[in-house]
Amino acid sequence: MSIEETLLKVEGLSEEVVEVCSQLIQRPSDHPEGRTDGCVKYIKGYFDGLGIDNQVYQRDEGKPNIVVRVKGSSGRKILWVGHNDVVPVGEPDSWKYPPFSGTVADGKVWGRGASDMKGSNASAMIAARVLSEVDCPHDMDFWFTSDEEVGGGAGARWLADEQIFEGEVAIIGDASGCDPGQVNVGIGHKGGIGSRLVAEGKTAHGSTPYLGDNAIDKLLKVIPYVKRLSEFRLEMPADLEPILESTKEYMLKDDTLDDEQRKAVERLFYYPSGPSLNIFHGGVKGNVVPEKAECSFDIRLTPGIDAMKVKERLEELVAEANVPGVTLTARAAPRVGYYEKADEPSVISLVKAVERVTGERPPLTLMPWGTDAISIKRNIKTERHPDGIPNLLFGPMLRDQLHQSNEYVTTINLVTAAKVYSVFPFYYE
Ligand SMILES: [Zn+2]
Repeated sequence: MSIEETLLKVEGLSEEVVEVCSQLIQRPSDHPEGRTDGCVKYIKGYFDGLGIDNQVYQRDEGKPNIVVRVKGSSGRKILWVGHNDVVPVGEPDSWKYPPFSGTVADGKVWGRGASDMKGSNASAMIAARVLSEVDCPHDMDFWFTSDEEVGGGAGARWLADEQIFEGEVAIIGDASGCDPGQVNVGIGHKGGIGSRLVAEGKTAHGSTPYLGDNAIDKLLKVIPYVKRLSEFRLEMPADLEPILESTKEYMLKDDTLDDEQRKAVERLFYYPSGPSLNIFHGGVKGNVVPEKAECSFDIRLTPGIDAMKVKERLEELVAEANVPGVTLTARAAPRVGYYEKADEPSVISLVKAVERVTGERPPLTLMPWGTDAISIKRNIKTERHPDGIPNLLFGPMLRDQLHQSNEYVTTINLVTAAKVYSVFPFYYE
């Protein structure tokens, strides 16, 4: 069976991929609960109906993971990983179509998870179906996991830690790359350092604040110092420079960005992003001087840089603020995120597959967000890749749709991703 025939088969399932995406959205899997049993039941039913091998793995009640297995001829295996759980809906009234309706309109499928990432799962399901009908060159395991939005506990992290995942290369579907005119292949992403400030003061009655020591005031004095971490220029590995340039170029193609946002994109990989103050707790009552306050920052860093230097700079800044009773806890591993080399053979294979399907030569990019790739990289190693198998990022996601109200995915991207997933094994050597 040729690549051409494989593509025709996917083309013939263009309506099916839209329907499958809508069906997955109609099975809510939103956090905080993050139940994925509805989605897994649907996926299992779909493949049982087609007589295609699949298996459910579950650590936590209500959060099953499922793998769909396609047999190939080489005896080598490609791993595809996506997640079924989605982020909360937010304000239901701000949605044009109900968030779990999976409405199909205007060439798009609408609903929570459409872009992140039930659309990608639908494309992978179609690819699994097509590849089971052709002579697939390699084995393929398509995984649909739980818990990605909360760190992978019962999903990819567990499957990777327990060595249940198998394969010599992974495609992570939690990605963009399909947009016409802006196709790209992701070869890595950022990581982060966790950081928290805790301020201890002394409580007092609100009428006599001079008898207390206000913990919130203390925190407010230190926060501007932490923010200055965004001026700390990161030292890049030389081989990453061209990738960062093409990433910037790709991200700046987004014409909805205003001037300030464009400036932020220019800096995105060259400086720590944020520090974004995302959690703040303090105070118990309107007439009580708070004795405790704490806050956490989201700080994202480009892979390949020395994260310990950033951590040291952060500690210096907090020390410079010189506010007694405020302590910083910063967690950093020396390496954050990951990236593959541009000449890694599987990267070249995916570039060829994307070019064949879209007619565009995809630049290599880094993604600013994190994915399950980290757990796979850490745990799944082979002789050829003792530092972890390659993890390639490609999917139908629209990057401005992540975690937004009125989330959607375009039907054209669903078909493109299904095609790329289906022909990748033919290009992979
Ligand atoms: Zn995701």
